[in-house]
Amino acid sequence: MRGHEAEHDELKRAAAAFAARTLNDDVARRDREEDVSLPGWKACAEFGLQGMLVAPEYGGAGMDLRAVVATLEGLGYGCRDRGLVSSLNAHLWGCVQTLNDFGSAGQKVELLPGLVDGRWIGANAMTEPESGSDALALRTRARRTDDGYVLDGRKCFVTNAPAAEVFIVYARTGDGPAFSSLSCFAVRAGTPGLSVAPPASKMGLRTSPMSDVFFSECRVPSSARLGAEGSGAMMLMSTMEWERSLVLAVAVGGMEYQLEQCAEQVARRVAGNHPLRQRQAVTQKLAEMKLRLEAGRGLLYRAVELKRAGKSAFMESMLAKIALSEAGVANARDAMQIHGGYGYMSEAGLERELRDALGSTIHSGATEVLKDAVAMLLLAGSAGLAGRKGGGTA
Ligand SMILES: Cc1cc2nc3c(=O)[nH]c(=O)nc-3n(C[C@H](O)[C@H](O)[C@H](O)COP(=O)(O)OP(=O)(O)OC[C@H]3O[C@@H](n4cnc5c(N)ncnc54)[C@H](O)[C@@H]3O)c2cc1C
Repeated sequence: MRGHEAEHDELKRAAAAFAARTLNDDVARRDREEDVSLPGWKACAEFGLQGMLVAPEYGGAGMDLRAVVATLEGLGYGCRDRGLVSSLNAHLWGCVQTLNDFGSAGQKVELLPGLVDGRWIGANAMTEPESGSDALALRTRARRTDDGYVLDGRKCFVTNAPAAEVFIVYARTGDGPAFSSLSCFAVRAGTPGLSVAPPASKMGLRTSPMSDVFFSECRVPSSARLGAEGSGAMMLMSTMEWERSLVLAVAVGGMEYQLEQCAEQVARRVAGNHPLRQRQAVTQKLAEMKLRLEAGRGLLYRAVELKRAGKSAFMESMLAKIALSEAGVANARDAMQIHGGYGYMSEAGLERELRDALGSTIHSGATEVLKDAVAMLLLAGSAGLAGRKGGGTA
């Protein structure tokens, strides 16, 4: 990333040192027992992670996006608790940034300080049992009343739900096409009619709590709605663009750390009478890991530069998300293979990294869904070109 100079390197180093010092206690046990680290959450807030993009008047640091990315990479390098990081990502991109972009001054004053200073956790309630990949097909309803709305419906796989204070909720306020019929609400925990199921158990990211959320005759005031009625689909798309662009910035740092571990292992390990460093089948893995990491990093920086310039990163955010999520899985698998039997043991922490990485190919748009969307954009573009050519010929 152009301009990713000494200042950003320092931010990255500081975040890595903070994470290594503060966030890695007992991760293996906590992963086994699905134990969420609230002290870790508060430490992140004290370090300033929850408020990086929030303006100082609401308690944040108002950082430039390049500085944010450098900090997230450092966090990924130092932090072995990927569940905590997943919770932080859901909080930042699915809740805080949505409020940042679309909240009124009153909503920001009410909600952002608590979300920034570590008192509160945010969640994004979008997915439903019948609509995940096709998020705009959601069915949760928000029925208008004299002084607000009544929400009815069910959301699932909501990261942070068991601990969240603020839920960003997408619901249908009309029967027409999604782009004019969805609205977005900020709903506080404890609102009558909002209930949260017991935490779900999952394969990876086990230190990040997740559950279903139910809305049953849940009354919210009009002031809970973000922006205009009917603008929810636009907000959801914006949220997704932020999330796809930045959710795996942490993974870049994580892959960097993992690759260093692997290079050390290959340099050190003698299998029988033969050093691993003389086995091309092994050393080539290191090069492939590096290639995936740097290709993904390049796409991340491209999306970030577009967002910094206030331009659309719709396509680029999807490319970054596809590349980094698939790289995370492939590299975690290679890391395990390079470490042999020890890599398969829980003690090494590498099987946990593989389990943690797999979720990223599903959330924020599954790889197949994003590839489809990229292809559709390309086809739409080439149809446009063909049309222009045809016009020229005629
Ligand atoms: C770790 C994790 C965290 C999550 N956190 C949240 C959260 O905080 N809030 C929230 O609302 N949701 C969250 N989710 C849910 C997530 O957004 C959905 O699981 C995801 O969008 C996929 O939806 P689905 O599970 O309904 O799968 P489906 O939509 O049923 O799709 C199943 C599979 O079919 C394929 N597929 C589907 N549609 C297409 C298509 N158009 N083209 C090609 N292939 C397709 C894909 O391979 C996909 O994986 C999380 C999920 C995970 C795994």
